Amino acid sequence: MAACTVPDKNCPRCPRLATFRKNNRAQYPDKFNAPVPAFGTDNPQLLVVGLAPGLKGANFSGRPFTGDYAGDLLYPTLKKFGFAKGDYERRPDDGFTLLDTRVTNAVRCVPPENKPTGDEINECRSFLQSELSAMKRLKVVIALGGIAHNSFLRALGLTPSAFKFGHKKHYTLTPRQGLAYPVLLIDSYHCSRYNVNTRRLTAGMFEDVVALARHHCAKAAA
Ligand code: SF4
Repeated sequence: MAACTVPDKNCPRCPRLATFRKNNRAQYPDKFNAPVPAFGTDNPQLLVVGLAPGLKGANFSGRPFTGDYAGDLLYPTLKKFGFAKGDYERRPDDGFTLLDTRVTNAVRCVPPENKPTGDEINECRSFLQSELSAMKRLKVVIALGGIAHNSFLRALGLTPSAFKFGHKKHYTLTPRQGLAYPVLLIDSYHCSRYNVNTRRLTAGMFEDVVALARHHCAKAAA
């Protein structure tokens, strides 16, 4: 049987998140309020892995990073380096298109206070693993934050302690490390409003990460 890459809209596997979802549906009945599917092509050269939908961002819009501050930094930066086209307008029907790129989250349902538990991260990883199994051309993965970094590595059966997270740190994961081809994992601080407001991450620092991804994709294609 083919692996499932998209959770059911009533996925019950994380009871706390299912209860939160139910409450949000009652409070915001005209919003998306379901596991947020990935955005972009199924078989990309660049995969961006975030943490989880924001309550009034992706959880409302139904598209990762769409409608909250993080998307305001992520999507124009991807476009600047040729990974997207069109105008990002914070709406899932804005026509903004990713080019050979996919954006997903380690956890598909919005968690209270943006904090999924370890069990919830582990529970949702099978969807990331299923996505990865369909990617035969993947060249670069950008992990936005330590949870995305760790969950991506665990999805490949790797031990995160062997790959310490740090902004702009990058690791070449070789076939022996769980992939059928080498992939460059690049870490970035999450492009959240909090990180930008505290200057932990600047637009320039984030551009450096995406530029590295572009450079590696170009090198791999040469
Ligand atoms: S976070 Fe993932 S595994 Fe948990 S309920 Fe949502 S879709 Fe299901």
